[in-house]
Amino acid sequence: MTRPIARRAALATLAGGVLSTAAASSALAQQAVLLYPRSAGTGGPRIVGPGFVRPGMVQPGVVRPGIAGPGVTGQMGYRRLTVVSANTGETFSDVFALGNRPSVIAMARLSRLMRDHHNGATKPIDPALIEILARIQTKVLRPIQILSGYRSPETNYKMYLADPVGVAEHSFHTSGRAVDITVAGASMEVLGKLARQCGAGGVGTYASGFIHIDTGPVREWVG
Ligand SMILES: [Zn+2]
Repeated sequence: MTRPIARRAALATLAGGVLSTAAASSALAQQAVLLYPRSAGTGGPRIVGPGFVRPGMVQPGVVRPGIAGPGVTGQMGYRRLTVVSANTGETFSDVFALGNRPSVIAMARLSRLMRDHHNGATKPIDPALIEILARIQTKVLRPIQILSGYRSPETNYKMYLADPVGVAEHSFHTSGRAVDITVAGASMEVLGKLARQCGAGGVGTYASGFIHIDTGPVREWVG
């Protein structure tokens, strides 16, 4: 299922907002912090973000190979991502990490972009989710459209009541660990496969034109 991907020597510059190497170096030297404590066993980071856990699910804090394991630890250099909010048109096209060290500023901007657009509520987005998006982008080389990121419990509950089959009552969206995306020109089938290859936990493929990705346990469904 999940497996590390090789580091890309050069990520494509997809849109504007590109920092110069010197500026990026200077900025990231100050900004980059380890958001994850290193685990003793692998030397890699651990996922310690908030989690929604049902019986039998993977517990938060457990190292997930492919996302938080040595594959990420081994990645060096400036990591870039270009995403666009389909709800607001806001764009992030910038460095989000130096190696496996997320920029706190970039993560704050991404959390803002991926906020609950129904009421403006924000929550820190799981950096492992951003990592998956970045990996997908190294394959599609196009901006990723964000249809839904964080959802406040109130918004998610309303959506659940409106569509109890299609919306989970306790969605990973409510813990900043899920995102619904689409990419212009890509089929949902291809995107779903890429998400799986890129270390996603849950992958939902929706014929209406988007895929759901989360950092929960490995699951797969068609909506
Ligand atoms: Zn979703």
